[in-house]
Amino acid sequence: DAARLAAYDGHERVWCGRDESRGLIAIVAIHNTVLGPALGGTRVWAHESFEAALTDALRLSRGMTYKSAIAGTPFGGGKAVILADPKTQKTPALLAAYGEMLAALEGQFFTGEDVGLTVADADFLSTCASNVLGTGRGSGNPSPVTAHGVFLGIKAALNHRRGSQQLEGVRVAVQGLGSVGWALCEKLHGEGAALIVADIDAERVEKAKRLFGATAVPAGEILAAGADVFAPCALGGVIAQQTISMLKAGIVAGSANNQLARHEDARLLMDAGILYAPDYVINAGGLINVAAELAPGGYDRGAVMAKVGEIPGTLGDIFTRAEAQRRPTNDIAAEIAMERIAAAARKSRT
Ligand code: NAD
Repeated sequence: DAARLAAYDGHERVWCGRDESRGLIAIVAIHNTVLGPALGGTRVWAHESFEAALTDALRLSRGMTYKSAIAGTPFGGGKAVILADPKTQKTPALLAAYGEMLAALEGQFFTGEDVGLTVADADFLSTCASNVLGTGRGSGNPSPVTAHGVFLGIKAALNHRRGSQQLEGVRVAVQGLGSVGWALCEKLHGEGAALIVADIDAERVEKAKRLFGATAVPAGEILAAGADVFAPCALGGVIAQQTISMLKAGIVAGSANNQLARHEDARLLMDAGILYAPDYVINAGGLINVAAELAPGGYDRGAVMAKVGEIPGTLGDIFTRAEAQRRPTNDIAAEIAMERIAAAARKSRT
């Protein structure tokens, strides 16, 4: 019942696609298109229920609206979730069925890779629909660009806290050694940070120990690791009422989307004296990279990196404003995003 679903959380539209014979259950959520057509990746994940997948799509698409507004890209917020195990259920037939769904959404929704969907999958989907970005022929894997933005964001947080961006000897706990987490570790290690890592994939952990001299901890213990910075780079919801008291780091700055279980948890972080870099601000590199494919002059890597280079300045402003107003950083970030959307809406009315 699309009408009922669209009533969720101020979203403009929500589509559900189902193709039983090819195993597809997909949700495409469009949160807000005031700044432009909706853009957001497609996540393939075996959520425990349809409701859980829907909640994920709704939260992620809303985050994309804010992310785009803060990063200054002319797009609205959208996101797709395919309810399937990416390792065992992401068959060519399922992707073909999803490609047909995407073709029906051309002009309204642009998408690309996300957790569980690879650049190769995007390549395949682009043979079915024109609204697929981040293909091998396009801007490619956005993760190194995202990691660069997170790296700069961690430095901005350190600078705000310590008056120095120096990473030498700074202990960073990285949760998740996937595309972004790994590229982030390379950069941090390159500047002398001491890495503490966790991943459910033991092979990646071993490699990080070998290549970066990282200290490994079990996945369940990374939050409590004795670190200066906690960088969540796996899935969302890791910062919650029950977990904040475990955190030893004074800074939370990582790539994961929806790091907070609830928006209000940012206040708990603030009260605990922990500086939080709002996820959709620090991880905007991937969006900036993919959105650049649709720039009037075409994709320009230099322009992308220049825009990613603005992330630390934006974060610095948010940190300063939050401190001056004694408000959580994500309240300030949301306020800036909503101000920009409201201004665009006013402009389009006049
Ligand atoms: P990925 O799938 O490549 O990596 C995720 C990693 O986390 C994997 O190595 C996985 O084994 C690990 N992991 C899963 N559960 C874990 C747990 N409980 N503890 C420790 N490790 C665990 O994904 P990615 O592309 O690196 O993205 C990471 C996060 O950053 C996601 O939340 C994603 O939405 C977000 N993000 C990514 C980009 C991008 O450009 N790829 C952009 C913005 C946001």
